[in-house]
Amino acid sequence: MLKPTQCVHIGAVHDTVTHGANSPIFTSTATGYLDGGGIVYPRYFNTPNQRAVVEKMAALEHGEDGVIFGSGMAAISTTLFALLKSGDHAVFQSDLYGGTFRLVHTDLERFGIDFTLVDGTIAGDIERAVKPNTRMIYIETPSNPLLRIVDIREVAALARSKGILTVIDNTFASPINQNPIDLGIDIVIHSGTKYLGGHSDLCCGTLVSSKELTARVRASATHFGGTLDPHTCYLLERSLKTLALRVSKQNENAMEVARYLAGHPTVKAVYYPGLENDPGHAVARRQMSGFGGMVAFEIRGDRAASERFQRGLSLIKPAVSLGGVESMICSPARTSHSRLSERDRASIGIRDELLRLSVGIEAPQDLMADMEQAFGSV
Ligand code: PLP
Repeated sequence: MLKPTQCVHIGAVHDTVTHGANSPIFTSTATGYLDGGGIVYPRYFNTPNQRAVVEKMAALEHGEDGVIFGSGMAAISTTLFALLKSGDHAVFQSDLYGGTFRLVHTDLERFGIDFTLVDGTIAGDIERAVKPNTRMIYIETPSNPLLRIVDIREVAALARSKGILTVIDNTFASPINQNPIDLGIDIVIHSGTKYLGGHSDLCCGTLVSSKELTARVRASATHFGGTLDPHTCYLLERSLKTLALRVSKQNENAMEVARYLAGHPTVKAVYYPGLENDPGHAVARRQMSGFGGMVAFEIRGDRAASERFQRGLSLIKPAVSLGGVESMICSPARTSHSRLSERDRASIGIRDELLRLSVGIEAPQDLMADMEQAFGSV
């Protein structure tokens, strides 16, 4: 079955009352136990609405099983603390979502887990960081916010040769554009708040992996408790039905917008793996079937100029978060990466004038017209 069909059909719970098109919502947190079949309970991650989403995600990500969480950070933190212990070492890509970067710096250290941050785009960088006690390599590609591309197959092969687990945050690509398990990655995580939800109105996270690794993470997850309620599961299931459709339009729009920005005199730099001259283009072509809806760029000018540009927009919304049907823009230095020190931001390459654009499903001509008039205010 191809992805657009999987998006619509896989995992649906049959409605035995009306035989309707949609999965019923099962609200009970108290469920019968006398007739066998195990205990069904939201924090055990096994309710029908949770399973419906997990089955769809596992099919889309080519994994065996999965877990649905209350947020992307619940998925990430649970995975790290389920699979790492005091005395272990992990390698992380340095250009990471700001929340993950902070989690690594504050909480891993507190629990005695050693780590090294590397620029995963440089060949051999990750390998040099590996120590005898390295238990995990964690990557995010395309990365937030600079859209850097890491060679997934290379990282997975290195890790397998040394018996190290691999985890990827696949949020920016979505399962429509990239399937890391096919390239040898063990665990795929998404902030479902972004493309999976797709309408900027729900918060969740997902993990997809083998049966064995999923069971290990789920065992800790039942203690950590970052579960998701049936109503949000239902909304997510509904959103996923249009994921392939939305993402393919976002791929097209982002390509057009990136080309427009690359040719604009007020723009100093554009970061988009779909552009032929992007440093990640060749690897992205090999491992992605579409280049995604995220574009980052720097305008000629300072932080104030970038703020004037955002205030000058009338259609594209200056807002935090991404992946929705509506186009949104933000300054990572003031939002997703604001809690990093200036020095940490500089070391990753996040400048004050950097803007991160999440391209929606609108007509691209309208988006470009909106930016053109806002460039006038810079
Ligand atoms: N991963 C990436 C790439 C993100 O952009 C985000 C949030 O912006 C997260 C993880 C965290 O997800 P959540 O906000 O759903 O906890």
